[in-house]
Amino acid sequence: MLPQAVMKKAQKEFLDWQDLGVSVMEMSHRSKEFLALTAKCEASLRRLMNISDEYEVLFMHGGGRGQFSAVPLNLHQDGKTAVYCENGVWSKSATDEANKFTKTLSIDVRNDVNGEFSIKQVTNWVLPEDASYIHYCPNETVDGLEIFDVPSHPTAPIVADMSSTILSREIDVNKFDLIYAGAQKNIGPSGISIVIVRKTLLEREGLPKPGILDYALEAKQGSMFNTPPTFAWYLAAEVFEWLELNGGVKAMEVQNIAKAQLLYDFIDGSSFYTNKVAKHCRSRMNVPFWLNDESLNDKFVAQSKDAGLLALEGHRIVGGMRASIYNAMPIEGVQALVSFMDAFAKEHS
Ligand code: PMP
Repeated sequence: MLPQAVMKKAQKEFLDWQDLGVSVMEMSHRSKEFLALTAKCEASLRRLMNISDEYEVLFMHGGGRGQFSAVPLNLHQDGKTAVYCENGVWSKSATDEANKFTKTLSIDVRNDVNGEFSIKQVTNWVLPEDASYIHYCPNETVDGLEIFDVPSHPTAPIVADMSSTILSREIDVNKFDLIYAGAQKNIGPSGISIVIVRKTLLEREGLPKPGILDYALEAKQGSMFNTPPTFAWYLAAEVFEWLELNGGVKAMEVQNIAKAQLLYDFIDGSSFYTNKVAKHCRSRMNVPFWLNDESLNDKFVAQSKDAGLLALEGHRIVGGMRASIYNAMPIEGVQALVSFMDAFAKEHS
């Protein structure tokens, strides 16, 4: 979901932005009005996440997967290995992509026991002494696993794919060297991705790479080496403004905890549904759950759709159901889901 207020504002100014008589989509990305928008957008994100001047903020193309390629291309170091900590579908995909460009070492940080999905405490991750960088995914969107602590390493930069957790809870950006996120969860529509990168990392030569994936080049060009996705950028700026007006990341975190708690408590108390994730690493954004009688899956999806509850079908890789409860989902949305799940369970028990 995107915030209703943002969608309505965008609708209102769709044909005529800032009384200029044209849509923001029709503006030149180099016009002074659009440049003012991008400056405002970056300043807003810096305030929301408390990003210091030691970091560059880039607005890039190519979504999360674009960054799967950009990270090794920019951070590769000859003779060194890139470490990929794997805890689910997306962190594994990141490794597969990086393997095309640099030498990687995969580290399994899952700790599944007796059918319960779990992740090792970050302090127990066995990381090699030397690495070009350490990559991990704090929230595995498909698996519904979230890592709340941040791994550390004495020398290697820490790189995090925050596509599905960015802005959902407070984090200390200083513990990271590179954070990236595709926009289409908590930022705006797809088409733009955000990279927050420690400036010192831009000095790395990396590998030969396409200009549009080159961090140093994009930093130098104000993220406008080529024409950026301007409408997505505009909507991201609107979402950041909405976040600031609504109490910022702290307020989102409080609401996200309440939303997740409501849903997990209901599932845990039910003999009809199951969540297989250990409590300490349950995602606040993506809640996978299974009907104990899987023959009812199709009926559940059809009836939930009729009730106005959309996109509950789990990812094809893991099956079951999955509730995506990103920032813009109000608690009323989760309450409606729980009421529906309760009624469905009663009807079929
Ligand atoms: N990383 C994570 C954690 C994701 O959830 C996704 C998409 N759901 C991606 C990467 C890939 O993003 P994109 O589709 O924008 O390439």
